[in-house]
Amino acid sequence: MIGGLSLTGCLDQASNLDPSDTVDSNDTEKNDTGDDPEDETENETERENETEEQTNERLSPPENGAVTFVYDDGPIEDYTKAFPVHQQFKAPATVGITSSWVGRENYMGIRHLEKLVDAGWEISSHTTDHLPIASFKIQEDIEADDREIDPTEIRHGHHEGKKVELTDGDHSVIRTVEGLGGETEDPHVVLTEAVGKPFKAGETVIRYPRETMHKTLFESKRKLEKYGFEVNTLLAPYDRFNEWSMEFVPEYYIGVANANYETRINSEGFNPFETQRYYFIENANRSAVESDLDEIADRGAFGVFGAHTVKDEVTQELIRETLEWVDERGIEVMTLRDGFAHFAEPQTSNK
Ligand SMILES: [Zn+2]
Repeated sequence: MIGGLSLTGCLDQASNLDPSDTVDSNDTEKNDTGDDPEDETENETERENETEEQTNERLSPPENGAVTFVYDDGPIEDYTKAFPVHQQFKAPATVGITSSWVGRENYMGIRHLEKLVDAGWEISSHTTDHLPIASFKIQEDIEADDREIDPTEIRHGHHEGKKVELTDGDHSVIRTVEGLGGETEDPHVVLTEAVGKPFKAGETVIRYPRETMHKTLFESKRKLEKYGFEVNTLLAPYDRFNEWSMEFVPEYYIGVANANYETRINSEGFNPFETQRYYFIENANRSAVESDLDEIADRGAFGVFGAHTVKDEVTQELIRETLEWVDERGIEVMTLRDGFAHFAEPQTSNK
């Protein structure tokens, strides 16, 4: 369904959605097709094993280390492709769920998520609407009458109708995103009206305003919890997480799967808001995956491996092969939440 690099995988997916997704930033509770949110009778009795890790003391890590598989975006292929293979190994995984996509065509509904959780899987938040929660620097000076701006990444341009903030720390304006413009090889973010004041390149960032940050982080968690799931970890959309994200995320989550991208191994005592994750099938050198598993087993470290099951190259065979490699080395497979409990430095500032 989607192609290209993994980074644009999320991006394409977001931009291909029903336009209603991007029109109204105040409405994240719609589009619950299929599954009835009130139908959650059994869910409160569940998952006893998931509550005991909520302590402030780190559990001891398994001797041969552990690995967490994090599958992105909640496509139905997580259930049809990855789940059966994981079940053969009795190996749980973590799915990053964009709360407004639950039950949409080609995505998992509540009942699929319940089946995963019953098998020990974890539901992680991937925000309400797959919003970028990082800030991006502006690369070209902005004139007052400019409507097109040129950030290092144009993620915000994929979320039409959302309000963004441009700020240099002293001055700030809020504008609404119209979409993407500019050249194909150099796309820009287009606003519905002129910026209204000049801003300097390098000193200025584009980001979501505070209110939007709180809303997307809180409401995705709340909505998934209303379905009966315990949700306390975050998967940052587009693999983008920085100091702007850090101002908000620890208020709602105990850690993030992918603060750092392009490396997979975390040492005992790592900061759960600096977790390293990388892909293990798409974009991956498979022999590097194997040698990372050697290192994880040798060092008793914690690996976080990601994949988009919607991609054709992410096959059951390659998932199975990876789980065999993990098994052969005596590495435990656990959820991200459990990985934090066993390997991360407990954070005291969380609510
Ligand atoms: Zn994503």
